[in-house]
Amino acid sequence: MDWTPGGLSDDVEDRRGDSGGGGGFGGFGGGGGGGLGIIGVVVLVIVSLVTGHNYIGSYLGGGSSGSTQSAPPPSSQYGPGGPRSQYGSTQGSSGRVNASPTEDRSAQLVSFVLGDAQKFWAQTLQEQGVQYRRAKVVLYRNATYSGCGTAQSQVGPFYCPADQKIYMDLSFWDQLAQLGGGRAEFAQAYVVAHELGHHIQNLLGTEQKVERANQQNPSGRNRLSVKVELQADCFAGVWAKSGESRGFIHTDDIAGGLKAAAAVGDDHLQGMQGGTVRPDTFTHGSSADREKWFNRGLSGGTIDSCNTFAGNE
Ligand SMILES: [Zn+2]
Repeated sequence: MDWTPGGLSDDVEDRRGDSGGGGGFGGFGGGGGGGLGIIGVVVLVIVSLVTGHNYIGSYLGGGSSGSTQSAPPPSSQYGPGGPRSQYGSTQGSSGRVNASPTEDRSAQLVSFVLGDAQKFWAQTLQEQGVQYRRAKVVLYRNATYSGCGTAQSQVGPFYCPADQKIYMDLSFWDQLAQLGGGRAEFAQAYVVAHELGHHIQNLLGTEQKVERANQQNPSGRNRLSVKVELQADCFAGVWAKSGESRGFIHTDDIAGGLKAAAAVGDDHLQGMQGGTVRPDTFTHGSSADREKWFNRGLSGGTIDSCNTFAGNE
């Protein structure tokens, strides 16, 4: 993927400095009980597949490459009585942030992908008569406050419909980027594009429809969740197609994106964790489905090609 690192746009809210320094790799092999967590496993799988380098093995094997894995003690600053006023700041100041060059590059990559994808979606939605509202990305360390409750790095990147912001802790990506080099970048772009896909669903009213349906029929929640997630994968594919036609996303990036989509299938993850594969518990979709829908977005290139809700699959 061709891109030029630059500054952070106004759509990036940088709260990394709010953790009081020493934030470190919350959730990544940090002592007592934390472990990798499901998202940690997801990220390792994605990056392993995209880069062809087995980080899962390195991690489980005690980390032959793990000289940087001594995480600092988790900050207790974000307990219930924490300094909430710090969260309120919406200024995009990055002057106080103590970040490594790779983490800075990672932040700039997020800013670039977000900027390009929002430009693309603003135009696409306008053609459909839908007014675009810009989403923001909040970069944080360890934990921060969101409109959907406390954001913690262990739960991985997510989109909060209430405040229309995507929450990401980059320190995890930072470490992976140090290990994985440039080819890990499209995996990160894919994650940003997927999360922005949830914002598009919010703007299109899908989010609200699904919420209503869940209230009426709670037992259908997992099935609908899969459709929502697959559509976000498809929207990521739609953006990737646009990037490809504009020449900055290349075929090998796309191949990596497809592998990433497959790697985060619920069946793959359940199998990896040693469990049996139980489709009724899927909340994101199987590997085959995720790959299929990323591909549909990629080949169709339109919102209409992403109707995961149609049919009775
Ligand atoms: Zn999602």
